[in-house]
Amino acid sequence: MLTVETTKTWLSLFIEKLEMNEKYLNTLDESIGDGDHGANMLRGAQYLKAKLAEDTQSGSAELFRMAGMSFIQKTGGAAGLLYGQAFLHMSQSLQEGDDLLGILASGLEGIKKVGQAELREKTLVDVWIPVTEDVRNKRLTLDRINEHVISTKDFKAKKGRAAYVSEQLNGHVDPGAASCGYFFEAMLEAGVY
Ligand code: ADP
Ligand code: MG
Ligand code: MG
Repeated sequence: MLTVETTKTWLSLFIEKLEMNEKYLNTLDESIGDGDHGANMLRGAQYLKAKLAEDTQSGSAELFRMAGMSFIQKTGGAAGLLYGQAFLHMSQSLQEGDDLLGILASGLEGIKKVGQAELREKTLVDVWIPVTEDVRNKRLTLDRINEHVISTKDFKAKKGRAAYVSEQLNGHVDPGAASCGYFFEAMLEAGVY
C-alpha cells in the first residue's frame, strides 16, 4: 500500500542504498561513462534526505514532487533529469489517484520523454520496463530485480555518454540500471508492492 509512511520509507531506503553504494556506482560509470553516477545520485539523495527530515505534513504526491525537484536541482547530468522527470510524473499520477502500476507507468513516460530510450539500449529503462511488467503480473521479487539489472551487462549503449565509448558491448552493468535496481529494491522493502 502506498501511504505517506510507506512512501517516506521507500524514498528513505532508496537514499540509504545510494549512500551505501556511491563508490560502486561511480566504478560502474568509470567503465562506460565519466565515473560520476554515484556522486551525482548522492547529491540529490542527500538534499532529499534533509527535506524529508524536516517534513511533517506532505502527502505521497508532494513527497514525490520533492524527490523530483531534488534530483533535478542537485543531481544534474543525465540521471538528474531522468529520475527528476520520473518522480514528477509519479507525483502527478499519485495526485490523480492511480495505483502503483499506473504510477510506475507514468514514471516511465517521464523517463522516455526526456531520454527517448528503448529497451536494450543499456539504460535505466531496461530495469524500469521489466519491473513494471513484473508488478503487472504480480511476480516481482528481489531476485528478478537483480536479474533485470544484470541483463544490461551485454547490451550495447546507444544513449548517453556510454554510447561514445569504443568498447560498447563490454560486460559491464549500466550504472543507471543499477541505481534503478536500488529504487525498486527499496519499493519492495518498504512494503509498497
Ligand atoms: P552523466 O552521463 O551526465 O554523467 P550519470 O552518470 O549520472 O550522468 O548517469 C548515467 C546514466 O544515465 C546511464 O548509466 C544511463 O542509465 C542513464 N541514461 C543516460 N542517457 C539516457 C537516456 N537517454 N535514457 C535513459 N537513461 C539514460
Ligand atoms: Mg556519468
Ligand atoms: Mg557526468
